[in-house]
Amino acid sequence: MSRPILATIHRDALRHNLMVARRHAPESRIMAVIKANGYGHGLLRVAEGLSGADGFAVLSVDEGIALREAGYQQTILLLEGLFDATELAVAAQHRLAVVVHNETQLRLLEDAHGKHMVAVFLKVNSGMNRLGVPAGRFWSFYDRLKACKSVTGMTLLTHFATADEATGIANQFERFDELTREIALPRSMANSAALLRYPETHAEWVRPGIMLYGATPFADRCAAALGLVPAMSLSSEIIAVQQLETGSSVGYGYRFTATRPTRIGVVACGYADGYPRHAPNGTPVAVDGSATHTIGRVSMDMLYVDITDLPDAGVGSRVELWGSQVAVDAVAAAAGTVGYELLCALAPRVRVAHG
Ligand SMILES: *Cc1c(COP(=O)(O)O)cnc(C)c1O
Repeated sequence: MSRPILATIHRDALRHNLMVARRHAPESRIMAVIKANGYGHGLLRVAEGLSGADGFAVLSVDEGIALREAGYQQTILLLEGLFDATELAVAAQHRLAVVVHNETQLRLLEDAHGKHMVAVFLKVNSGMNRLGVPAGRFWSFYDRLKACKSVTGMTLLTHFATADEATGIANQFERFDELTREIALPRSMANSAALLRYPETHAEWVRPGIMLYGATPFADRCAAALGLVPAMSLSSEIIAVQQLETGSSVGYGYRFTATRPTRIGVVACGYADGYPRHAPNGTPVAVDGSATHTIGRVSMDMLYVDITDLPDAGVGSRVELWGSQVAVDAVAAAAGTVGYELLCALAPRVRVAHG
């Protein structure tokens, strides 16, 4: 018997969510964003579920190579581009496309003099002010890349800061569209939020991430309402039961004190597994399929759930921390973060199974 915590990855859910993306953007090619180890689900596991995508976006050359070695023939894009000259040769060898977002990366390509050939996604800073070439330098980058012997093709790319918020994308979209609309090159703008909310941003390539994993990019719209199915369930078991009298407390810091006789299940899952330590009393959880909530402070390897009203629950009861009964976004909201962070933070020590 091993520790009962288990993450189950549902390939059918990945496939389903990819189909939802396609339904929203039927004219676009889909670049499935599988950075950060497939948002915590496992790079190759996720690639398998999303093998119907037209491309994959990752950060490192190593991830790109792993995908090629697994046999994927799609476009593979390095979202932050090359970090040094040695990476160019490797990227070229494995047909990895690269973002170009600054002068250093442009020079790497120019200095290669056609020795190593790559497809380029020129990233424009349309207002997020994270990565990208400012509008004022766009034409200079464009001309130099056009003239660059190492560049096999070019796509124009930008990224939105507030596609998931009330502010929307209008300003950034206008800036990018004005700069690029006359150019006969493919363009890519939309993350999940823009894909779902702003069809005008779809263009030739959309870049969904979070929605493919069945979590929501929005604070005000849940994944189920978007027709998405969670690709990860995190579950464990109750390994001990404690009976608290009124006035007794539980766990580090005595963060919970019983106001009635309270039955507590101790669950084999803690922050070292990736469960958020900031989850307060009342964070949703399901025990043997019934909704209840956490109490007390999350410890490294364990947390506590209230099973006072679940008389059949006890040692060995199955606990879903997040998945189909408890939305990861609901846990995240309680803990003051987003589903993205919880999924990515799944700890390497957690066993993973296919569902
Ligand atoms: C992570 C990322 C995405 C995907 O964003 P989601 O909100 O997960 O859909 C798209 N484009 C870029 C440049 C990214 O870094």
